[in-house]
Amino acid sequence: MLEIYNSLTRFKETFTPLHEGHVGMYVCGPTVYGDAHLGHARPAITFDILYRYLQHLGYKVRYVRNITDVGHLEHDADEGEDKIAKKARLEQLEPMEVVQFYTNRYHRDMAALNVLPPSIEPHASGHIIEQIAFVQKILDKGYAYVSNGSVYMDVEKYAKDYPYGKLSGRNLNDIVTETRELDGQDEKKHSYDFALWKKAAPEHIMHWPSPWSEGFPGWHMECSTMGTKYLGERFDIHGGGLDLIFPHHEAEIAQSCAALGHETVHYWMHNNMITIAGKKMGKSYNNFITLEQFFSGDHPLLSKPFGPMVIRFFILQAHYRSTVDFSSEALEAAEKGLQRLQEAYTRLQKLQAGKETTVEVSSLRERCSEAMDDDLNTPFVIAALFDSTRAINTVHDGKGTISEADLKELKDVWQTFAIDILGLRLEEQGADGGKQKAFSGAIDLLLNIRLQAKQNKDWPTSDKIRNELTALGFQIKDTKDGFEWSI
Ligand code: ZN
Repeated sequence: MLEIYNSLTRFKETFTPLHEGHVGMYVCGPTVYGDAHLGHARPAITFDILYRYLQHLGYKVRYVRNITDVGHLEHDADEGEDKIAKKARLEQLEPMEVVQFYTNRYHRDMAALNVLPPSIEPHASGHIIEQIAFVQKILDKGYAYVSNGSVYMDVEKYAKDYPYGKLSGRNLNDIVTETRELDGQDEKKHSYDFALWKKAAPEHIMHWPSPWSEGFPGWHMECSTMGTKYLGERFDIHGGGLDLIFPHHEAEIAQSCAALGHETVHYWMHNNMITIAGKKMGKSYNNFITLEQFFSGDHPLLSKPFGPMVIRFFILQAHYRSTVDFSSEALEAAEKGLQRLQEAYTRLQKLQAGKETTVEVSSLRERCSEAMDDDLNTPFVIAALFDSTRAINTVHDGKGTISEADLKELKDVWQTFAIDILGLRLEEQGADGGKQKAFSGAIDLLLNIRLQAKQNKDWPTSDKIRNELTALGFQIKDTKDGFEWSI
């Protein structure tokens, strides 16, 4: 048996990869039936930090993050309608159109947040054959049973041989009282048995042939199957949100132990949740804000648009295992903090070296390293960087000096920790995205030149600017005090 860990506290001392120099990590990815929101951004950014840090430490990392595109049912892991099938039915689309549409948008949002793409991004629907084989293995070992065309995990039998509930600290009695009575429970021996394969109801539009029925895999099956397919029967790290510990990850452990006879995951890591004004995020609370709405500011709970780097910085200001409470004020404060870092970074690039160092910069690398080693303590890294902004500003204001060697070191620490590891895009001026600002500024400049031309009765220049911008897709409106434009 692998000894399993629940976090990476004291990273360098406690983390030992299974294969020297290599790390395999698996993170539960999104169910692609809607736009990504703040709750998607947190695990993506948390494990992006881990991915970047492991690479910084010199490991060759294989990072697998799946796309759930079948089998994630509403209400409960075993009952209700498939989330993607429901969306497809409502919008009269082929389910894979829904999957592609939201996968593209997820990628776009992750790129905006500067989240690196994983090494492999497998889809559940692309691994039906492997999932059927995995279910068969569990059946062969006697830990599952077929009932009315569906296959269920025999949790009671499994719990006699393995510690079911070890990750979440639950026992079977807790689980019985937590399980809601839903249709189809009569197919199961016990309410806590979970589906490995579900027979599709006639109206269910996503189904595949199997030895047991025309149906689809249970939600937990995809991660056991794809994790071991791409990372091996034993791999280093499995991550996801805290809400996935039960039932999802507990079920994954049970499936893998039942099929293979041993644990597959060495270290489990879970990021905590985001609340909005103290409440859980959810459609029923009317506090569901998509990343796109953050970027555009188009939501009643938002005071203004917030750029992707502000969102990233806001999330990194908290340790990944603490809760984060969202509010517009908290984001505005994060925006100010990020601007201070951006200013300091820009100043740092222009600093002139002096003969000697009169400011305190010596412990910065050590502080940042220590913090990252201590269970990825990003708020401490940020605090250390803030402290060094004082030294940067002192030299910038001519009230102190820094030697050439120390300046080189300071620049390298900022590059390593702020840019490469925290993944902050500091080179962009302004937290709303420097490109946007530069673009708007350039259009305003052109239209001001046109305004001047008009005042000088230089019609050819004025017309040329208007006509060519119009041809490019701009709409230009002359107003009393100047102009307005849109695309
Ligand atoms: Zn998963």
